[in-house]
Amino acid sequence: MKAVVKIRPERGGTELQDVDAPTIKPDEVLVRVQATSICGTDVHIYEWNPWAQRRIGEKRLPQILGHEVAGEVVEVGASVRSIKKGDYISSETHIYDPGDLTSLLGQRHIGEHMQILGVDRDGVFAEYVMVPERVCWVNARSIPPEFASVQEPLGNGVYAVLGEDADVAGKSMVIVGDGPTALFATGVARACGVAKIILVGYSDFNMDIAKKMGADYILDIKKSTMEERHQFILEQTGGYGVDISLEMVGGEVPITEAFTHLRKGGRLTAFGITTEAAVPIDYNNWIVFKGAQIHGINGRKVFDTWYRMRGLLAGGRLDISPVITHVMALEAYEKGFEMLLAEPRLAAKIVLFPDHGELKAAKERLSEKRDMPAAD
Ligand code: ZN
Repeated sequence: MKAVVKIRPERGGTELQDVDAPTIKPDEVLVRVQATSICGTDVHIYEWNPWAQRRIGEKRLPQILGHEVAGEVVEVGASVRSIKKGDYISSETHIYDPGDLTSLLGQRHIGEHMQILGVDRDGVFAEYVMVPERVCWVNARSIPPEFASVQEPLGNGVYAVLGEDADVAGKSMVIVGDGPTALFATGVARACGVAKIILVGYSDFNMDIAKKMGADYILDIKKSTMEERHQFILEQTGGYGVDISLEMVGGEVPITEAFTHLRKGGRLTAFGITTEAAVPIDYNNWIVFKGAQIHGINGRKVFDTWYRMRGLLAGGRLDISPVITHVMALEAYEKGFEMLLAEPRLAAKIVLFPDHGELKAAKERLSEKRDMPAAD
């Protein structure tokens, strides 16, 4: 089968190779990949940045890249019960250990012994992939593969917006960041009835998408100071600050921004990952005296988030097509990576298709949704 394999510990260092299709264990299923999308994590591994060097290292190469996927089950292991041949599935990328305390308590996404697809084991940038039955999620047939594939980052957005209580209707929200997950979060916030959505961004390309996803106000950090943005947000919230603040960048400045705009008693959701080992936090004023709730997002709830996401997508309540800026053949993966590394940004979410017929169908679906044909 065709697969995109990281073979050398350097920038790029990948090849489209012909490799053996995987053989499944009794508790696994074999999936024919219909669509697979490029994530920031894949870009880190492609770039071979310090995180990738630490996390994967030379020892695990060669390794097939990728973790976001939608496809058809073509074979099931002997002990598989809940998934059958022909099912149209996506995979939760956090392969949890059922014996972990967190798994037993219903927090499977943050297990001590979990493995991550495409990071700790071979990924999905291939024609076939094997995944354990327990992380398979059956998609509604009405969700096209290019949407079903991006549910992993979309799920981050759903969980970040809804938090633990999904108490968001009629509330105000600031989203600090304009990456794909922030753009997804904007659409989710709109679909779930957040009353006022203010996005703080940097990339003109992505801020334009944020508008399409339903942001009420977009504050460009190139054109305003944090103090000016804070004044604007106070004016928009009766002088209090927002009910919910999503930090989706990582770093001292965006974290400060997310806390600054949060009202007393509000919820701060921490999703961005900092490159700094430690970031100063005004513990007293930002957390204690503010009575803030802090909510960390590492993954999505398995499968509560997936269940809600399926409902939002299947019913057409949430349209994520503006975020899917490009669809390409799997063979064109290098072009996709280079586009995602370009500055200023040229692409938000890129979906790859191993099969050219599937790619053509996706292009037609997306061009129906837009006025222009989907770029490739
Ligand atoms: Zn991802």
